[in-house]
Amino acid sequence: MAKRNDLVVLKFGGTSVQDSASITNVINIVRNTKGRKVVVLSAISKATTALENIAKYASESKTAEAESSLEEIINRHHVIINDLVNDSKLKSEAVEKVIAYHRHIAELIRGLSIINELSLRTLDTFRSFGELMSSTVIFHAMKNAGLDVELIDSRKIIKTNNDFSRAYPDFEISAANADSLLKPLLEKGKTILAQGFIASTEDGITTTMGRESSDFSAAIYGSLLDAGEIQIWTDVDGVLTADPNIIPYSLKLSEISFKEMEELSNFGAKVLHKNSVKPALKKDIPIKILNSKNTASNGTIVSSKLSYPKLVKSVTYKKNIIVLRVQPKETLGQFIFWEMMLNILARHKPQIDLLLSSSNSIIIVMAESAYTKIHYDELKNEFSEISDCEIVSKKILITLVGSDLSSIENFEQRIFISNPGVKADSVLFGYNKHSFSLLIEEKDFLKTMTNLHKEFFENTNSDTGLFEGTTKKEGKLIA
Ligand code: ADP
Ligand code: ASP
Ligand code: MG
Repeated sequence: MAKRNDLVVLKFGGTSVQDSASITNVINIVRNTKGRKVVVLSAISKATTALENIAKYASESKTAEAESSLEEIINRHHVIINDLVNDSKLKSEAVEKVIAYHRHIAELIRGLSIINELSLRTLDTFRSFGELMSSTVIFHAMKNAGLDVELIDSRKIIKTNNDFSRAYPDFEISAANADSLLKPLLEKGKTILAQGFIASTEDGITTTMGRESSDFSAAIYGSLLDAGEIQIWTDVDGVLTADPNIIPYSLKLSEISFKEMEELSNFGAKVLHKNSVKPALKKDIPIKILNSKNTASNGTIVSSKLSYPKLVKSVTYKKNIIVLRVQPKETLGQFIFWEMMLNILARHKPQIDLLLSSSNSIIIVMAESAYTKIHYDELKNEFSEISDCEIVSKKILITLVGSDLSSIENFEQRIFISNPGVKADSVLFGYNKHSFSLLIEEKDFLKTMTNLHKEFFENTNSDTGLFEGTTKKEGKLIA
């Protein structure tokens, strides 16, 4: 096998940069990493949500609420500067920059409170300040610690379409930018520091690529620079058999294949953003999921290798699921109906999780998400013109992920026998048999997750070397 490129992309999520102690860990991790490095940073924890709320308050003329919430976020950045930047020149530079961001956001608040309107484009501008501020502060902290770093504005590298709030990159244009702007710096031995989540259109308007998409940014940088490895540093030991917030005793996987990981992310596991696998898979760049608070753990490797076929690897879920049941109007021919339906979907662009069809009806399953373009009532109205349409909300989609699930002995029976009394509205194998989903009622959620975890991970012979116990997630007992 050809030797891998020595370039590593390291991404640190919100909790990994939440305060001075966490950032000190980050600095140590970067310092101890060999090879050329690109560091991708999230906003400090909860900053993006706070900025979204600030924009919302401002657009409702609730200026006092917006300003006080802004103040809180800004102060957290000043505290970090105070703790981690003691060189006076670096400190005053950092303070000035944060003050400038503060002023800029305050101006935007005033503007929004006058126009009383909040477009997705403006919302993206608000959100972008989280990463812009965290990267500024961490850049100065790293310089103060003696690291040879260069701060890059991701908006100058990653170019996207103008689908604000969930913009998608153009890899070709972005690669040309990476070649001209990043490669010379890397050749000089500089560690590059860049923001996750944010990008811009070709004419320079700020975009974001969806909540939690800093993982995707890391994969994009990995792909643009043909990295040897992408490291996602987070607050758990790796990919687990279930969300530890739901199943506190879930186990860590030592490895998982790209395809399985993609399915797991698509069906709700927050540990890796759903778009992150594709760029890595395409260039065969392994992704490591690692714990920035527990560097002793060896994490999970996501790669093209599938060492454990015919096995369930994890159980995941998506809440706030909306189900549209569509029965075509009899007067419409089948093909006309399909054409009209696809047109409606293309216009609204909902993120569809499952599409089930029988000869005379279609079930569209999708997750509700705030601040997106998708207006379910409008979608329903349009569907009502071509069909009898019923909309049911607040369902939960639970998905078992692994490989070749249909070959596991008694697979479906085990699911239903371990869940007596649970009524699943729909069940479905994913296209490639990497997933099996059940649509259930909210009231059955915890019971079903617990039963499935027990059935597939606690009762089985787990000495395969795949599953490992984990350490504590901060404040929460995992093992
Ligand atoms: P970051 O801020 O580092 O991006 P996230 O909160 O987005 O971190 O993702 C990590 C979290 O994902 C974990 O703390 C955990 O609660 C959640 N999670 C959900 N499903 C899983 C899973 N199967 N394995 C690991 N973590 C999971
Ligand atoms: N800061 C952004 C968010 O909270 C992106 C990320 O952290 O991945 O959604
Ligand atoms: Mg995340």
